[in-house]
Amino acid sequence: MSGTAQDTAAVWEALVATARRTVADGLVVGTSGNVSARVGDLVLVTPSGVPYDRLTPDDVTGVDLTGHQVLGTLVPTSELPLHLAVYRTTEARAVVHTHAVHATAVSTLVPELPPVHYMAGALGGTVRVAPYALYGSDELAANMLRALDGRAGCLLRNHGTVTYGATLDQAYDRTAQLEWMCRLWLTASSVPGLTPSLLTEAQLAEAGARLKGYGQRR
Ligand code: 13P
Ligand code: ZN
Repeated sequence: MSGTAQDTAAVWEALVATARRTVADGLVVGTSGNVSARVGDLVLVTPSGVPYDRLTPDDVTGVDLTGHQVLGTLVPTSELPLHLAVYRTTEARAVVHTHAVHATAVSTLVPELPPVHYMAGALGGTVRVAPYALYGSDELAANMLRALDGRAGCLLRNHGTVTYGATLDQAYDRTAQLEWMCRLWLTASSVPGLTPSLLTEAQLAEAGARLKGYGQRR
């Protein structure tokens, strides 16, 4: 196997593990959601409508940055426009899309997630909700890009979450944190007669800057 083929095989294995984790951790049900990772100018993606526990090393599915399929025979995820839009406009190496329940609930209620926790700083600031458009559409990808401006994640109205990162683990962790923050806001805002206190953009920026060095070696 060439070096590039080895890289591709290793990234595919990590991508499938990440997709399985979204199901195991309850962030999606069945074949909902999708995951991608970039290897050079190649983008590996989960196939459309295939249960993640059935994916094998032979199912590797890849497209170029224009969406032309260059690897595999399974149909790439229907959200290809959304994944490719992120790779074309950011430094992302991985993108995770889920239908996480608390995040999707929040997407139906407000135009942005009220900043109830400093971890929003890790996503670049207050998390916006992209206006609704049909799943898999170019319009949804365009709405998402506007909501992502300066952020590593956003919500999709009446649909779910999108986050990206420098690695599959980072993109996944950002989704998990986003879902947790949505659950936190729903919990705090459901106490009758009380309203949660919110943080300012400056407080989120300060936390975001400190989090850049969080838990790393000296
Ligand atoms: P795919 O199975 O085509 O990836 O679609 C799932 C989904 O979440 C669409 O928004
Ligand atoms: Zn979806």
